[in-house]
Amino acid sequence: MKTVAILGATGSIGVSTLEVVSAYPDRYRIAALTGGRNMTLLAEQIVQFRPEVVAVLSEEEAQVLTKILGADAPEILCGPEGLIRCAAHPDTDIVVSSIVGAAGLVPTMAAIEAGKDVALANKETLVTAGALVMRAVAANGVRLYPVDSEHSAIFQALEGHRFCDVRRLILTASGGPFLDKGLEELRSVTPAAALSHPNWDMGKKISIDSATMMNKGLEVIEARWLFDLDASRIAVHIHPQSIVHSMVEYVDGSVIAQMGIPDMKTPIAYALSYPERLPLDLPPLDLCQLGQLTFSEPDLERFRCLGLAYQALEAGGTAPAVLNAANEVAVASFLRGDIAFLDIARIIDAALQDMSVVDPQHIDEVLRADKWGREQAARIINSLNSSEEN
Ligand code: NAD
Ligand code: MG
Repeated sequence: MKTVAILGATGSIGVSTLEVVSAYPDRYRIAALTGGRNMTLLAEQIVQFRPEVVAVLSEEEAQVLTKILGADAPEILCGPEGLIRCAAHPDTDIVVSSIVGAAGLVPTMAAIEAGKDVALANKETLVTAGALVMRAVAANGVRLYPVDSEHSAIFQALEGHRFCDVRRLILTASGGPFLDKGLEELRSVTPAAALSHPNWDMGKKISIDSATMMNKGLEVIEARWLFDLDASRIAVHIHPQSIVHSMVEYVDGSVIAQMGIPDMKTPIAYALSYPERLPLDLPPLDLCQLGQLTFSEPDLERFRCLGLAYQALEAGGTAPAVLNAANEVAVASFLRGDIAFLDIARIIDAALQDMSVVDPQHIDEVLRADKWGREQAARIINSLNSSEEN
């Protein structure tokens, strides 16, 4: 029996994780759950999975939850300290890190430092603090299992091979809902259109990141740290069918790909059950029915965010934390209807121009860069909006 803590249980990955857990009650027990705002869903999850402890954003949500659950309520913690306590819960074997954004960094680090294995969906953890996180993973002797489908694919394609034989990694990208739109059309796309991903059903932030292709940029940075390879050896191919989840190219020209239908339960289950594979109740991949799998080069003019991520990785140190922070602010602003789709890349680009990069020795330096990136992006958005008003 493995005990599991899920950070971000009410999100898209959290819900899929609980579906896997509920199919295997003899293998997994939930020790801790955290949720942000959806207290109705969190209450249902608590009733079904009986965690010992839960954490929510603030006292306000804690009161709502206590009211729904009454005498049935487990211990309810709140705020950043509550997240950390759930992440480091003594009873837990593996922590599923599935909060969205840089907010996932501190609790994920807390899990690692408490000696927990981590199933990592929160790519922003490695984007913002990759070097420090991987150092902590090594120092604490824990394992980091990728949940992101591309990284899970690479992890699987590396199994049984010598790492020194790898030539490069090839991450696949669906290209998102705007793959075939020209630059002119991209000027006026709406948040609703950007949210409707053709292949994956995901949280709002990552859905917008897929539409701008920042998601792939963040994944390149994630892969750089997870697999310890230079950015020059991490390529991106557009693959609109989302069947080949990523590939590893070896020095002899062999390319090993992992395929499957686009459903996050497969990489989640593999991260939980590694090295075993759990039978999952999913439709089989029917390649004959699909007929064709296609691949092409990404267009860095229409999808500038991907190039900006490579730039930040090249700049090194805290640059990816600034990139990520500016992106989070810009995406939230686009979702509110305050800026246009193409402004997202403009804002991140402008934030990267003005930053000063340091080589962080401690998480606090990453958090300072994150804060600076957020403030800078907010200033740039204000100046965009006021120049439009004039
Ligand atoms: P989501 O928005 O559906 O869920 C996010 C979860 O985090 C929710 O439980 C929310 O309440 C919680 N949360 C949000 N802000 C928080 C904060 N400040 N403090 C504490 N909790 C907070 O997101 P998602 O789509 O499930 O994605 C989660 C992570 O997994 C992201 O980093 C994303 O990039 C990654 N990921 C997601 C998918 C996918 O298919 N959804 C695939 C690969 C990777
Ligand atoms: Mg992915």
